Amino acid sequence: MADVFESAAPMNTPVPLRRKLIAGGCTLLVLPLIPKLAHAATIVAVRTWPADEYTRVTLEMDTELKAEHFTLDKPHRLVVDIDGVRLSSAINDLVSRIKPNDPYIRSVRVGQNRPNVVRLVFDLKQDVAPQVFTLKPIGEYKYRLVLDLYPKVAQDPLMALLKDSQNDPLAGVLENLAQNGAAEAPIPSVKGQRLPPPEPSRSPAPSLAIPAPQGNSRRNRPILIALDPGHGGEDPGATGKRGTHEKDIVLQIAQRLKKMIDAQPNMRAYLTRDRDYFVPLNVRVQKARRVQADLFISIHADAWVKPSARGSSVWALSEHGATSTAARWLAKKENDADLIGGIDLGSHNRQVAQVLLDLSTGAQINDSIKVGSQILQEIGKINRLHRNHIERAGFAVLKAPDIPSILIETAFISNPEEEALLRTPAHQQKIASAVLSGVKDYFAANPALARRA
Ligand SMILES: [Zn+2]
Repeated sequence: MADVFESAAPMNTPVPLRRKLIAGGCTLLVLPLIPKLAHAATIVAVRTWPADEYTRVTLEMDTELKAEHFTLDKPHRLVVDIDGVRLSSAINDLVSRIKPNDPYIRSVRVGQNRPNVVRLVFDLKQDVAPQVFTLKPIGEYKYRLVLDLYPKVAQDPLMALLKDSQNDPLAGVLENLAQNGAAEAPIPSVKGQRLPPPEPSRSPAPSLAIPAPQGNSRRNRPILIALDPGHGGEDPGATGKRGTHEKDIVLQIAQRLKKMIDAQPNMRAYLTRDRDYFVPLNVRVQKARRVQADLFISIHADAWVKPSARGSSVWALSEHGATSTAARWLAKKENDADLIGGIDLGSHNRQVAQVLLDLSTGAQINDSIKVGSQILQEIGKINRLHRNHIERAGFAVLKAPDIPSILIETAFISNPEEEALLRTPAHQQKIASAVLSGVKDYFAANPALARRA
């Protein structure tokens, strides 16, 4: 079959053409092509982040580059032409970075397509809605070209929740929830994606299932808690002296907590991310709303310039800006995740984000302070507290108008002692246990939840 490499210009630039371009540059000094030829950009790093939700490929380079892309069918391929770059070992590295279990990419081919144009051909396992964009330098990163390969049909967080509950005695209740009450929250999607078709008759739940009464799913379902491990993928979060990444620690703690919650007879947990990949802040909120979570808990680890800073803290949303300079600094740091992780959402998602921001969140904040106080009290039994009251700041991830939402800074990863603690399974387990106790206290004291009223 015809190949995109074969059908395009030869891989090796004919020398006469290159000479002609350079010669032209001598007489036309303003020709914009010339600086690129003189200083072909260098790809300094290549990273891939495969996940069920989407696979990301990041090319990091010392200059901003332009890229064009198109998709081909039969078989599905994504072709990306990067302008102003020559083949190098870093970019050839990409070939070995593709993992066999990548849900979207089967393999990649790299070639010099035209003078200064490198062509990447991704052979795909399924049709994709690609998002290709560049990011300016931030933090540790130089310029980045980001290729996000989303499935053509957006994934519904509700379906992920059901898939997770296959052998769960509560599967039937969750199934009922999925069929009866999800329309109010949109499925997060990106430009070019279709939404999954409505499924009135999904495959029946396993035989263990408890039949749930129709139209009354809220009251008869378990308490659903959305756990949100901060950062992920391109965004490592804070990093400790020993190289511990916040994104890894908080995922481990969230997974431990999920296990504990799922072992409760009347509670289930949903993870906004279950692997090492980047999830935009408002998508985390949308996922929690889609599964109609009763509570949203974002899990983080703090950092400060002075290694002596230590202790846990619990945060609720502030409607009118942060209460202190330190709070503002922390909120900015956590909200910067989208800039570091890289985001290019379509207008659809921006509108949803705006709606979330515009809605009144007063009742949500009251409940968040209540549940946060219970959790803070429990954490105080196992770790020093950085502040012994709930703090407030404008974290983007806490902005669901209808779900009590808190953010826990479990400890300071920048404090060597606490970094060491955060790495141990025993301490992670203690944190998870304390959070669960606080959550149980809250629901015991407040059986009439805001969301169910
Ligand atoms: Zn964080």
